[in-house]
Amino acid sequence: MENHKLQIALIKGDGIGVEVTDAAIAIMDRALNKTGKKEFSYHRISAGASYYRETGYDIEPGGEAAAGRADAIFLGAIGLPEVRYEDGTEISPHLRLRDRYQLYAGVRPVRAYPNAPRRLADARAGEIDLVILRESTEGLFYSAAVHGRGQVIDNREARDVLRITRDTTEKLHRFGFALARKRKQRGSQGMLTCVDKANVFTSMAFFRKIYAEIAPEFPDIRTDYNYVDAQALDLIRRPWDFDVLVTENMFGDILSDLAGGLVGGMGMAACAEIGDETGLFQPAHGSAPDIMGQDRANPLAAILSGALMLEYLAEKTGNPGLADASDLIDTTVYRGFAENRLHPVEFGGAMGTRAITRELLEML
Ligand code: ATP
Repeated sequence: MENHKLQIALIKGDGIGVEVTDAAIAIMDRALNKTGKKEFSYHRISAGASYYRETGYDIEPGGEAAAGRADAIFLGAIGLPEVRYEDGTEISPHLRLRDRYQLYAGVRPVRAYPNAPRRLADARAGEIDLVILRESTEGLFYSAAVHGRGQVIDNREARDVLRITRDTTEKLHRFGFALARKRKQRGSQGMLTCVDKANVFTSMAFFRKIYAEIAPEFPDIRTDYNYVDAQALDLIRRPWDFDVLVTENMFGDILSDLAGGLVGGMGMAACAEIGDETGLFQPAHGSAPDIMGQDRANPLAAILSGALMLEYLAEKTGNPGLADASDLIDTTVYRGFAENRLHPVEFGGAMGTRAITRELLEML
């Protein structure tokens, strides 16, 4: 295992996706180098809106299967506002990859960094350190996962289905409890909050019921419940009280942007999407066409997503050395802010994508 070069399927995509992916690769390679591990071998896969415009395909032929054969998938960002499928929806091979590989566990860490913008005046905003675990294959996105599942009936009515399955929900809650346990070992409080709308929807009551069934398997983790509307309020009123939040796909989509906003902006929002066989790692932001090609994108979300990938691969391959490279990236970014060395344009500073990358490389 030690000598095997891990293969990463690399989908840079559109807009700033390309720029931030290059930054993430540079940092990952350096961190692996520093911790004595082999660099990855990257298998580039063309996909996205620009590719669709050129070829009529949203991913290269055979690209989905090739992505699944790699040890993990890294994606920049996909989509351009002016390029759409015929029905007007955004180009998204990413949703199909999620569906095909059943990447149910969407992990979105939300952490306050020193000297980075805080939207809340309360001093405790500096203690924000939580994870939103967003189910990523079903829920209300079930309709979007496969093109055509949403319906318009006779131009009179449109329907999208919200689907919750026992199988996925059990795995999701187990993943959430296990994540809370892993974080507890590193000093977090060890709590998993079930965020739903169980007071209104049958599907959500089912989601909560399964949470309660799984909870006794993790007696060391504190259980907690919140309705999604109250959770939105609490993420503004007292985000520092939360540890891991587990929720349905659409709720998680919205709450993770909200939570991301509390600790800076989209340029800090890292994301992992993990299934039973593979994982896809990407910044939670989009292709940001408004700033593409200007060296203004904040690459930290992509870089921190790279750290999540290293941590995932450490567990998947049973090679704890990869976790050292992941920790090294996390601590370097933290130190960069603590020592006031990182000033992204996104936060009103003067450092673009390349300058941030250079600074981190130097620190590494
Ligand atoms: P999607 O629906 O694919 O998430 P979107 O159009 O909703 O895409 P983004 O592309 O993420 O959203 O862009 C939203 C805003 O955030 C834009 O103004 C963009 O410039 C800004 N933004 C996103 N990512 C970054 C980044 N890495 N650095 C700086 N600004 C960013």
